[in-house]
Amino acid sequence: MIFDILTLFPEMFQGPLTTSIIGRAVDRSLIKINLVNIRDYSQNKHRTVDDTPYGGGGGMVMTAEPLYEAVDDLRNRCSGNFGPVVLMCPQGATFDQGMARVLADQEHAVLICGHYEGMDERVRPLVDLEVSIGDYVLTGGELPAMVVVDAVSRLIPGVLGEPDAAEDDSFAGGLLEYPQYTKPREYRNLPVPEILLSGHHAQINRWRREEALIRTLVRRPDLLAEGLTEEDRRTLREIARRASEIGDTEA
Ligand code: SAM
Repeated sequence: MIFDILTLFPEMFQGPLTTSIIGRAVDRSLIKINLVNIRDYSQNKHRTVDDTPYGGGGGMVMTAEPLYEAVDDLRNRCSGNFGPVVLMCPQGATFDQGMARVLADQEHAVLICGHYEGMDERVRPLVDLEVSIGDYVLTGGELPAMVVVDAVSRLIPGVLGEPDAAEDDSFAGGLLEYPQYTKPREYRNLPVPEILLSGHHAQINRWRREEALIRTLVRRPDLLAEGLTEEDRRTLREIARRASEIGDTEA
């Protein structure tokens, strides 16, 4: 997949997108990250990309022209499927695993990073999707773009070492992930659950599913609405029964 990232600060991407799993995915050509400096598309002699807001008020607003010029240029130079064009914007749809999956199915995406007070409203017709990474305001769209590239890239086949490594992740199948343990068997009087040492894969899988259900029930019950199997429903009823027994004993 190719990511074209439109930014005023390409240098911000050094590190997060050149290191570890994402860095290796770039090295192995599983993904390509093309950093495009919006300023290169400014049409005026001072290469400005922002101006004061009409109607007054503080801060600077990014002008529409360099963004249109940049996207047009990328579209003209693209030999395969182009887009979607995604604007990083706190007013957009909240980014989630489902959105990451949809983007991971694309061959190409353009990510536009705003800065300052945001951008001229006339940029909106240029974009297919507006994405927010949460209900807070950052100084720029660079960190949100890195979040999107990271979450999308790890879903691209080959990026994670194990082919099914992302399958049990939180949100992948509608639940939070089960608890994970590694060596040593006991640490500060906290033992690894016996079942994980048993080598009995069917029982381990059942335990993990039950733990994922309990964890989701306690922390994110809103996620439980969809995608449950009949076995999951039975497990949840059993968990509720055991919880009410504990309640009765304590009362
Ligand atoms: N004045 C804008 C508003 O109130 O909606 C906020 C502009 S923000 C300071 C500057 C840029 O940072 C935005 O254009 C956007 O690209 C990016 N940004 C800030 N917070 C974001 C978030 N939660 N999700 C995605 N992008 C964000």
